[in-house]
Amino acid sequence: MRTKIAASWIVAHQKGKHILLRDGELVYEDNKIVFVGQQFSGEVDTVIDAKGKLVAPGFIDTHVHSGHRASHRLITDTGRPMYYGQPFLEISVPKEGKVVKGDPRYLKHGDKGSAAAFELNASFTVAELLRNGVTTFVEYGSQLSVQDALLAEVTRLGGRAYLAPGYDCGRWVADEEGRLKRVRNDQLGVDGFKTALSWIERNDGAAGGRVRGILVPREVETSSLEVLKMTVEAADQHKLPMATHAAYSVIEFYEVVKEHLKTPIELLDSIGMLRPTLNIGHGNFISDNPNLNYSVHNDLALMGRAGASISHCPINIVRRARTLDNWQGYREAGVNLSIGSDTYPRDMIMNMRTASYLGKITGHSYFAAPAAEVFEAATLGGARSVGRDDLGRLEAGALADIIIIDLSGRNTLRYGPVRDPVKSVVECGVGDDVETVIVDGRIVVKDGVIPGVDFAKLRSQAQEAGEQIWDTLEEWDPLGRTHEDACPWCYPMAQ
Ligand SMILES: [Zn+2]
Repeated sequence: MRTKIAASWIVAHQKGKHILLRDGELVYEDNKIVFVGQQFSGEVDTVIDAKGKLVAPGFIDTHVHSGHRASHRLITDTGRPMYYGQPFLEISVPKEGKVVKGDPRYLKHGDKGSAAAFELNASFTVAELLRNGVTTFVEYGSQLSVQDALLAEVTRLGGRAYLAPGYDCGRWVADEEGRLKRVRNDQLGVDGFKTALSWIERNDGAAGGRVRGILVPREVETSSLEVLKMTVEAADQHKLPMATHAAYSVIEFYEVVKEHLKTPIELLDSIGMLRPTLNIGHGNFISDNPNLNYSVHNDLALMGRAGASISHCPINIVRRARTLDNWQGYREAGVNLSIGSDTYPRDMIMNMRTASYLGKITGHSYFAAPAAEVFEAATLGGARSVGRDDLGRLEAGALADIIIIDLSGRNTLRYGPVRDPVKSVVECGVGDDVETVIVDGRIVVKDGVIPGVDFAKLRSQAQEAGEQIWDTLEEWDPLGRTHEDACPWCYPMAQ
C-alpha cells in the first residue's frame, strides 16, 4: 500500500543532511519511504493532507527510564546538597536492608501487584513517548520484568525500542545516618550481563524488527572493569550498541578517579569502549568541565576523537542546576550529540528548546546550539548513537518513521506567524503539537489519539501509583522522612 503526505513543510534529507522542502510530498510504501520531493507523479492508495503542518522524521529519545516517574516529583526545588544534584541518589537509594517502595523498577517478579505495576509502567512509557512523536527510544537499563512488559507494549502500540535488562555490580545504599555506601557484588554484574545477553538473543528483532537489543551496564562506577570489558567484547561480537551513565555526577567522577586513577571517560577509552554506538549518559561532568576543577582537560578530545555519543537530557539535568558545558564545544570536538528525556515530561520539543537556550548561555553566544543542531540531535544524532542510517531522516530508502506537527499548535495562538517551521517548533512548540505518528509505515497516533489507549485511565492509575510511592517514603528513606519532610508543599497548606 502506498500513502502520500502532501505538506506545507517537510524536513527532508539530502546528501547526509536535513534540508527544508516547502509545499512538498512524501510517499511511503509498506514500511519504507519511496519518494520525498516537490511532486509525486505515480499512483497512490491514500493521501494525507498536511497543509499548515510540518512533516518531520520521528524523534529518537536516547535516554528513557521507563515509568510514570512519580518518585521524581519528590525532588522538585529541593534535595540533599551532598548529592551535588544527582537525582537518583535522592530517590533510589534506600536505607541498608530496605527496598525502594512503589517504583515498579524495584519490584520483583511475583511480588504482590507486580504484574499490574509492570503493565502500567510500560503502557505509560510507550504511550507518552508516541504521543510526543518519539518513534524510537532507548531504555536505560531497567530490570528484566520491566523490559518484558515494554516489549509487549511496543509490540501492541507500535514504536521502535532498544531494550534489554541493565546490569551492575551492586548499587548504592545509605547507612543509618544517611551516608552513601556501595554494596559491591561483582558476581551480580557478571550474572546480570549474561541475563542481558540471553534476553537480547531471544528478543533482538522482535515486533517485526522494531525491537532491538542494547547492552547497558547501568553506571560506570557500579560496574567492575571486568563487566565493562565483557560488554565491549559482546558489543564487538554481536554488533550491539551500548549505553552507560558516565561523567554524569560529581560523586561518580570522584569515585572512578579514586578507584581507577582515571576519569570515567579515560576509563572507557582505556578499554576501547568509546565509539559512536556508545551512548554516554550524560557526559557532562568531564575533566574539561570548569566546575570540576580537574587539572587535565582530556576527556572532550577523547570522546570527540572516537565520535562517541552522549545522551544529553537538558530538562532533567537543569532541574538539578546542571547542564552541558557546552554544546558548541562538544560539537566542535566531534562528539555525537543526541537528546533524551530521562524522566519527565517526555517532550522532545521542550528538550530541544532547553538544549538550545542553555547552549547559548554556556556558549556565551546566540549563534550556539541553533534550532538546526538541536533538531538534528533529536533525529540524526539518536540514529547515529544506535548505528542506524535508516532512521531519523526522510529520504527514499529510509524507514517510514514520520511525524506530522501541527504548526497552529492544535488551534492556539502559541506559534504566531510561522516563517521557518523548525525554528518555530523549537521556540514555540510542545510535544502535544504532534498530531500524527507513523512508525514502520503504520499510523500509530492519529489526531493525537493512540488506538487502544485511554489517557484518562492511564493518568488516574499513575496518580494512584504516585500517591502510594509518596506515602511510603518513610519506610525506606535513609533519614526516615515523610514526603512532606523531604519535599515541602510549594505554599503552606490551608488548614
Ligand atoms: Zn539516566
